Amino acid sequence: MSAPVKTLLPGATLGVMGGGQLGRMFVHAAQSMGYATAVLDADPTSPAGLVSHHHLAAAYTDTAALAELARVADAVTTEFENVPAPALRVLAQSRPVAPGADAVAICQDRAAEKAHFQRAGVPCAPYAVVDSDAALASVDAALLPGILKTATLGYDGKGQVRVATRDELTQAWQKLGKARCVLEQMLPLQNELSVIVARGGDGDAVTFPVQQNLHRDGILAVTQVPAPQVSAELAEDAARCAKAIAASMGYVGVLCVEFFVVAGADDSPRLVANEMAPRPHNSGHYTIDACDVSQFDLQVRCMAGLPLIAPRLHSPAVMLNLLGDLWFAADAHVAHTPRWAEVLALPGAHLHLYGKADARPGRKMGHLTITGATASEALERALQACAILG
Ligand code: ADP
Ligand code: MG
Repeated sequence: MSAPVKTLLPGATLGVMGGGQLGRMFVHAAQSMGYATAVLDADPTSPAGLVSHHHLAAAYTDTAALAELARVADAVTTEFENVPAPALRVLAQSRPVAPGADAVAICQDRAAEKAHFQRAGVPCAPYAVVDSDAALASVDAALLPGILKTATLGYDGKGQVRVATRDELTQAWQKLGKARCVLEQMLPLQNELSVIVARGGDGDAVTFPVQQNLHRDGILAVTQVPAPQVSAELAEDAARCAKAIAASMGYVGVLCVEFFVVAGADDSPRLVANEMAPRPHNSGHYTIDACDVSQFDLQVRCMAGLPLIAPRLHSPAVMLNLLGDLWFAADAHVAHTPRWAEVLALPGAHLHLYGKADARPGRKMGHLTITGATASEALERALQACAILG
C-alpha cells in the first residue's frame, strides 16, 4: 500500500489491472455494490473489459494508459500476478494500490516467495535456486527426484520439468533456456489445499473456509468445500499460516495461499506452503455461490477501506472448472455447445461463463459450482454434471 486506505464509498470508481475472468468477477462484485469500474487490459474483448464502465485497451506499461487509469479510478487493484510491479509503483504515486507493488513482486518470483514463507515461519518444500552453472553443480542430491520450475511466469504447470537424476536436471535447465529456476524436492502429497485470506489496510484479516483441490495436467480441475480429507485442526493451521504470510508482507487485499499436505514425522498430516497469488483465485470461485460474502466482495471491501466480515459457508459445494476441451467432447474437430440446459436442471447448479469467444483445449472458459444441503449431495450432483458434460 502506498498510503493508508481511505474509505471509498459506493459511487467511487475502482480500477483493476488485468481483464481476465478474475477481473470480470471483481467488476461484477464492485458494480453490484454501486461502484463504477475501470479495467486496463490490451485485449479489446477481455472478459472484464466487456462488462466494465471504462476499458483502457492498452499494455500494462503504457504510460498514458496508466495516467488515464489513475485519473478515472479512485483506487486500483490487480487480477493478474504478472502485472509489472513498476506499473503498480507508478499508479501508487497518485492512488491507493492494493495489493502493493512489493507484495506482488514477491508473489511473481518463486524464490522470493519461498524465502517469504520461511520469513513468516511457514514451512515450504526443500529447494535450491538454480541461476548459474555453479549453482546447478552444487545442488544437494537430496533434492532429487525433484521439480525444476522457472522462478517467474510459470502457471498451470507450465515452465516445470520433473527430474530424477543430475543428468536430467542439467538437461531440464537447458530446456528451460537456463532461466532462473527453483529446484524443489518432489514431495509425496496426500492432498492439496488452498486458503483465501482478505486483509484490510488496518491489519484486520479474515479467511474463507479451507478448500481441497484436485489438479489435472497441472490445471485446477475440482475444488471441494468443506475439504473432505482435512481435519479442523489442519484447516485452522492453514488459516493461521495464510494470515501470517499476509501480515508479514503488510499485505492489503485478497491473497490465496496453496498448500500441500504431506505425512509428518509421526505420520500425522503436515502443511507445506506451495505458492501464493496476490489476488482472488480459481480455487475460491465457490465463495460466490456457497458463502454469504465472496472473495470478490472482499477484494472490493479491502481496496475501498470498508469493514471486512468473516465469511460463512452456507452450503457445501463442489466447483468444476470448465475448460475449452468440453466444447470438443463429442468430436475433437468440431466445436459444439455443451449441454447447459441439462446441467442447469440439476438442483444447486450455478453456471459461470466468462464471455470468451473461442473455446480452445486447456482454456478456462467458465466454472460450475454445485451447492447442496450436504457435501455428499453436492458431490453426487457434480458427478452427474460431469456425466452430462462428457
Ligand atoms: P503452477 O504455478 O503451475 O500452479 P505449482 O507449483 O502449483 O505450479 O505446481 C503445479 C502442481 O504440481 C501442484 O499443484 C502439484 O500438484 C504439483 N507439484 C508442484 N510442486 C510439487 C512438489 N514439490 N512435490 C510434489 N508435487 C508438486
Ligand atoms: Mg499452483
